[in-house]
Amino acid sequence: MLETAHADHVFYRSPRKSYPTAVRAEGIMIYDQKGKAYMDGSGGAVVVSIGHGVKQIQQAMLNQASRIAFAHGSQFTSEAAVELARKIVAISPPGLDRVYFLSGGSEAVETAVKMARQYQVDRGMPSKYKVISRWTSYHGNTLGALALSGHTGRRKYHLPLMQHTPHIAPAYCYRCPFGLQPAACMLECADDLEKTILYEGPDSVSAFMAEPVVGATAGALVPRDGYFQRIREICDRYDVLLIVDEVMTGVGRTGKNFAVDHWGVVPDMLVGSKGLASGYTPIYCVATKEAVHTAIKDGNGVFVHGHTYSQNPLSCSIASAVLDHIREHDLVKRCAAMGAYLLKRLQALYRHPIVGDVRGLGLMAGVEFVKNRKTKEPFDPKIKLNALVGSRAFDKGLITYPGGGGADGVRGDHILLAPPFIISEEQIDRLVGILDDAIAEVSAEITR
Ligand code: PLP
Repeated sequence: MLETAHADHVFYRSPRKSYPTAVRAEGIMIYDQKGKAYMDGSGGAVVVSIGHGVKQIQQAMLNQASRIAFAHGSQFTSEAAVELARKIVAISPPGLDRVYFLSGGSEAVETAVKMARQYQVDRGMPSKYKVISRWTSYHGNTLGALALSGHTGRRKYHLPLMQHTPHIAPAYCYRCPFGLQPAACMLECADDLEKTILYEGPDSVSAFMAEPVVGATAGALVPRDGYFQRIREICDRYDVLLIVDEVMTGVGRTGKNFAVDHWGVVPDMLVGSKGLASGYTPIYCVATKEAVHTAIKDGNGVFVHGHTYSQNPLSCSIASAVLDHIREHDLVKRCAAMGAYLLKRLQALYRHPIVGDVRGLGLMAGVEFVKNRKTKEPFDPKIKLNALVGSRAFDKGLITYPGGGGADGVRGDHILLAPPFIISEEQIDRLVGILDDAIAEVSAEITR
């Protein structure tokens, strides 16, 4: 990709990079101003689930906008918000009966943290305030969400502005933090939560937050069966709320409505999801148990929090239409089937010595790169291996979501794949083919 700044007034993420202009999108494809087609192999940043350009959603937008686009949540409710909350409750783990709407994932994460805190205060446990999270995790870029995130590289610049919060070891089987092989695993990474709660003092701990399948930091880290069940038990033992961050994994992305459904675990709060509106509008939610809602209703009476665009009717009606579309086209089931096919096809990438691990659940797959497959030594981050593979694939017309820092916060390279659920087997073959070519070319260049 050309390293020249744009002459326009937009403050871009990478001000030195020259971005193509996206002008049109349909299905799993995005087209730029020159007519070049890109396969959306990552749904942007694991956002687009139902595909681009769905007419039913455009119609829902128009219908709602022609009636009412905005009414402030402190002054009105709306049919769209009521309807969407009902649909989210219907697909959520049992008991998550109240839904609070937000317009960003980081905002939703921080909302859950504050909701947990107010719950503790309003039910008479004001000493409980700490939120424990994990290393090798990502919960967002606002200062509170970043403090919970376990990614050294993303935290480094802003560390002086952030509050220190406790982090436990990740459930990262390929690089077990306890140096164990799968046969010897006793879920030490889950027990690390218990140890940390005891060190911190159970009376001070309000909640534990984790992504059921880690996304941006390490590329689709799937925990072992039993991990989240153990986490649930520990949270219950110490009266700590379990908050799952399903911003990437919901709705349907892992082949179930929410990733915790794979293990039958019911959290106290669920933060979701980019896939709630599949990129058609920015809307997220926190779904919580009635007990949390009741404590706040009967305690302070007001949740001391709020954002201007929460529960705006236009976004709610768009998300509602997306959920209808997913249900009507049985897309969660399709995601599970296509995910299994993608994972099978990705095994071919092991022909490249730099591919250390291929993993995933549903249509959320990760490919981790290593300098040495035997020792699992990561590449020097100065090489920017993940960016090299990502931009080579992009030049060839495949969008992926590359990331780094999974191995130790700074080192480690992976590519995250998360195409829309409508992808076909033939398109998956094409996706894997392009990625294979990109890896081959980059491998040849770095070993020259
Ligand atoms: N939580 C998780 C698991 C995420 O992957 C992300 C974003 O990638 C966020 C939270 C933050 O979401 P947003 O970028 O909408 O603030």
